[in-house]
Amino acid sequence: MSIQHHPDFDQHDEIAFFHDPESGLRAIVALHRSWEQPSVGGCRVADYATEDEALSDVLRLSSGMTKKSVMAGLAFGGAKAVIIGVPEESRRAAVMRAMARITHRFGGRFRTGVDLGLRPTDINLMQAETPYVFGNATPPPSHATADGLLVSIKTAVRHKLARPGLRGVRVGVQGLGKVGMRLSTLLVSEGATVVVGDIDGASAERAADEFGVEVIAPDRIHAAEIDLFCPCARGGILNDRTIAELEASMVVGAANNQLAEPRHGEMLRERGVLYAPDYVVNAGGLIAVAAELNNRPEGWISEKLDGLAGTLDQLFDAAERSNSCTALAADRLAEDRIQAIEASLRSAA
Ligand code: NAD
Repeated sequence: MSIQHHPDFDQHDEIAFFHDPESGLRAIVALHRSWEQPSVGGCRVADYATEDEALSDVLRLSSGMTKKSVMAGLAFGGAKAVIIGVPEESRRAAVMRAMARITHRFGGRFRTGVDLGLRPTDINLMQAETPYVFGNATPPPSHATADGLLVSIKTAVRHKLARPGLRGVRVGVQGLGKVGMRLSTLLVSEGATVVVGDIDGASAERAADEFGVEVIAPDRIHAAEIDLFCPCARGGILNDRTIAELEASMVVGAANNQLAEPRHGEMLRERGVLYAPDYVVNAGGLIAVAAELNNRPEGWISEKLDGLAGTLDQLFDAAERSNSCTALAADRLAEDRIQAIEASLRSAA
């Protein structure tokens, strides 16, 4: 089957397969859109059952990055790299250096950085080979992701519950990693009642000890008696089973690809659940990367994060007007913005 007929192909501009026999690296890089600014997206390291699974992942993730970028008012085309197979420790450094050399070959058209499975030490190794790898900034992009989620949660609560703040709002945070842990502290300081769950029991206990949140089973948190479910662990969490069990009337979280299938956006709407689309509300990390790449002044990141509220209001209204789910409204708005960028590039050419 040619790539053009792959179900996840979305008119990608460039898809390249790499094999470095010396290190054993196998990787795919996909540039969904190449505009005037570099195409941007993280580098994921994962064990894939087949090369086709890796290809699906890189195609979907790179087009998701374009949507995330335009919805955050940025003009980066989306991109992604996947390293196929978690390397053994003995050859990990060689694999990372080889990945950095591949990135360098794009001459700055493709910029990459941390994603699932990539470690800060990998980033250091890669940055020694090429200036086109970002990351390890202070504060880390995950802080901006959590901050953007807080803005988004407040917006959803204002829209759905007509409440001006979070005092007394019950929020369930699934996953207490880099994003979920910071977000939980922010929610507590805003007066929300927070319950948390993580498969890593130690993280959950730490959150309970440090800021007094209630801990519940990580695989039942979506069904807890909460107002808002905040998935900050893994994708596919909104599916037939979990949606049927939701007590919450809002879902706003960091995890990418939360809807197991597109139809689950409509299922949420039918159940009266306000879903804030993942790629809109988790754009904080990309905004922080944009600030790093373009040397934006202090204050620019928080201005952009505050802007997420206006974008969400716009798409909640658009969904209501068109009687459609918010996921579809977001896809339409993102497509309009992509087309507007491409039309202006064509007319400038
Ligand atoms: P992380 O790896 O630091 O943390 C993930 C946490 O989820 C871990 O504590 C892990 O133990 C827990 N977890 C894993 N599976 C779980 C399960 N089934 N139930 C409950 N807990 C589980 O990741 P992160 O950087 O905090 O990101 C969280 C999610 O948000 C990821 O899906 C990531 O792709 C997405 N995201 C992150 C950023 C960012 O800036 N870090 C930006 C956009 C999207």
